[in-house]
Amino acid sequence: MRPHDLLVPTPAGLCCPPGGFHIDPLRPVDKALITHGHSDHARPGHGAVLATAETLNLMRLRYGDGFAGRTQAVRYGETVSFGGVSVSFHPAGHVLGSAQIRIASNGLRMVASGDYKDVADPTCAPFELVPCDVFITEATFGLPVFRHGDADREIAKLLRSVALFPERAHLVGAYSLGKAQRVIALIRAAGDARPIYLHGALETITRYYAARVDLGDLRPVRGTSKAELAGAIALCPPSALKDLWTRRFPEPVTAFASGWMRVRARARQRGVELPLVVSDHADWDGLCATVAATGASEIWVTHGAEDALVHWCVTRGLAARPLRMVGYGEEDEAEGESPAATDSEKAVDAP
Ligand SMILES: [Zn+2]
Ligand SMILES: [Zn+2]
Repeated sequence: MRPHDLLVPTPAGLCCPPGGFHIDPLRPVDKALITHGHSDHARPGHGAVLATAETLNLMRLRYGDGFAGRTQAVRYGETVSFGGVSVSFHPAGHVLGSAQIRIASNGLRMVASGDYKDVADPTCAPFELVPCDVFITEATFGLPVFRHGDADREIAKLLRSVALFPERAHLVGAYSLGKAQRVIALIRAAGDARPIYLHGALETITRYYAARVDLGDLRPVRGTSKAELAGAIALCPPSALKDLWTRRFPEPVTAFASGWMRVRARARQRGVELPLVVSDHADWDGLCATVAATGASEIWVTHGAEDALVHWCVTRGLAARPLRMVGYGEEDEAEGESPAATDSEKAVDAP
């Protein structure tokens, strides 16, 4: 069996004709296998959805009970079979419930990574390396300029700034699914037990996480006085950093937790005073190391800077191709960012 007989990129997403399913479909389909809850991967309206219990729950929280005709929860490592194709889900280390999807038939093994990171995250199961023949990798940060470094150091930077400006509030922009909760968990791991305040848009998902991971004392910004917010840390969606909403905080210091903050021009352009390089995607070294470690001889590259990673693979003697599927990267760190812009910034900020 050739890879294209098992999985083929279509406008609706990656399709497995012998198994009769799509992976992270962009349009409503009969049967969807979904890697994780970010809205560009997990869309409502499919006939049936197979995903981890956490991903199904997160979809329910966002879209309501009727988000799919039927659902089936799959445990990590469990194998299910469709038309002779065996399917299993493996931790991707990206957000709670995130999975890589392995499909195998007639001795051919393919793994669709979804989004992933290969570094520790206290809020989700660690990335599992899944050996395969064809690895389908994301490439959100697929340029050598992106090296995320140590997230603990970034959180220490935030806490130093809080100590330095006890009369000001610190507002941290963070994506609502995954990043916000990871930032909170990292603050707790640094030994800070003070209340952390949440923008209303972060409350539902953070409460879901907090039932599974200890996130400490969390309070809504809503109803809290300006005086109480002095010296406090509050989290909000990135879009709220420029809102009138920020006026309720005393002299807010604006921070933004994202892999994009490696590029200083991005921070300046967003008016971010305190850029925090914290990413839920593998960085350039993580992508290259993972591609090599899977043992795959063929690599398909999707969303992000596809060409640079394809080039790297080819120089290593691997067959590689960009998938050029349109529609991913609307939530999480790929939100509103164009690979073309990162290319031009490379010259300015490359280490
Ligand atoms: Zn994602
Ligand atoms: Zn994605």
